[in-house]
Amino acid sequence: MKIRVLYFLLAVAPAFQAPLLRGEETNMQPTWAIAIHGGAGSSPEQLGEESSRLRSAGLTKALQAGRDQLAQGATAIDTVESVIRILEDDPVFNAGRGAVLTEDGKAELDASIMDGNTLGCGAVAGVTKTKNPISLARLVMTQTKHVLLVGPGADEFSEDQQVPQVDPSYFLTDQSHNRVADLVSHAAPLRNLSQEDEAHLGTVGCVVLDSHGNLAAGTSTGGTTNKLPGRVGDSPIVGAGTYAANGLCAVSGTGVGEEYIRNAVAYDIAAQMKYADRNLESAVTDVMFQKLDSEIGGVIAVSQTGEIVLQHNTPGMSCGAADSTGRFEIHLQLENGGAPNEQDATESAQHLDEAEIQTLLQQQANDWNAGDIESFMTVYWKSDQLTFSSSGDITRGYEATLKRYQSRYPTAEAMGTLTFEDFEFFRLGEDAMQVLGVWKLERQEPLGGRFTLVLRRLPEGWRIVHDHTSSFPDPEKQ
Ligand code: ASP
Repeated sequence: MKIRVLYFLLAVAPAFQAPLLRGEETNMQPTWAIAIHGGAGSSPEQLGEESSRLRSAGLTKALQAGRDQLAQGATAIDTVESVIRILEDDPVFNAGRGAVLTEDGKAELDASIMDGNTLGCGAVAGVTKTKNPISLARLVMTQTKHVLLVGPGADEFSEDQQVPQVDPSYFLTDQSHNRVADLVSHAAPLRNLSQEDEAHLGTVGCVVLDSHGNLAAGTSTGGTTNKLPGRVGDSPIVGAGTYAANGLCAVSGTGVGEEYIRNAVAYDIAAQMKYADRNLESAVTDVMFQKLDSEIGGVIAVSQTGEIVLQHNTPGMSCGAADSTGRFEIHLQLENGGAPNEQDATESAQHLDEAEIQTLLQQQANDWNAGDIESFMTVYWKSDQLTFSSSGDITRGYEATLKRYQSRYPTAEAMGTLTFEDFEFFRLGEDAMQVLGVWKLERQEPLGGRFTLVLRRLPEGWRIVHDHTSSFPDPEKQ
């Protein structure tokens, strides 16, 4: 999808001429970091000047509050709750006051919160009288053994907990009425709306890394305009609209909730980091631009190292980011939807693959040095088609290669201490890489040489499919 490139940056801290979109672009690693969103949808042009101004002001106020709390050592979970409360109280956004309405003109509110330190989480859906649904979600987390309460049961729990109650009319601002009047059917995904009708829905979310090293995330919404009474979106679904796990990331989404639920968006990002060793930016980019269709929504996320990623595949997303290095920025739209440009993406994929292969080869050397030839063989393709060539011979197949190693190096003494160095990487395709390097074996009679490996990315990970090894001194040169 080609998004019109209008970079709408409101530089709040004048010291920053150029926006810092990724944590790693600063030299210092932040000790705390926070990102917020106020919904994905329309571009600033579609929103108009007044609405853009109000959104920017609302985001700035909430982000400043979050920044100040984190700078004073507040916890991630407290910050998420209090920042979202500020956004819920602001009628500009579709959460708390100002929520969009159901088909029959009522506000039914959804929210969730998650503590990455404990994986504790709480959520409410379809609540009608709670002033700040995010605080009710937190009480579900702390005061019950459950994760999600819905409808009348959630309203009742809210009264029991004595959180501030409001008359349902509190949520109905002029804006929510106008949204109902202006927008088409509840079932229409954003991409089916015409330019004029296009919604900037205004769900709110917050993700935080605090100075104690804990992550947390939260999301709050009125849902989608003209939704069927009883409809629940992704915002209160842990793993879809919200997710946080220490060591990985904290994520909050906004967009067509049904798609976020189908694709388990927030958890998918964390899972890609956990199981596929992806960094936060490439995991978010994969979900936003490969898995989801265009014009579905956006995501804000922060990693354990304080890297912040903001991305949307809609024309705009209201969002902001701040961290302990002084970063402070508000956007209503990001260039290229916040995704890295193609060259950056290729470079970062190459970098990741090289790092992954280098780690595997290092592990291989460690296994060798522990005297474990079978573990050393893990990185070879377990196939009859594996080829290993050295000194003019070719050994074919995994089993034969294993036997060759075992007979050449029968004892720990013969195995010695292996090191690999001078790696050079040449990409042969998206899923194939050639690696050159030097091997050295410290032992009574030291040995060494060059190797050329061809690796393929298989479902089980990168594997050597061909290994050509030579030893020096080269006999032909003597
Ligand atoms: N994701 C929300 C929902 O589907 C709406 C939004 O983010 O705009 O309820």
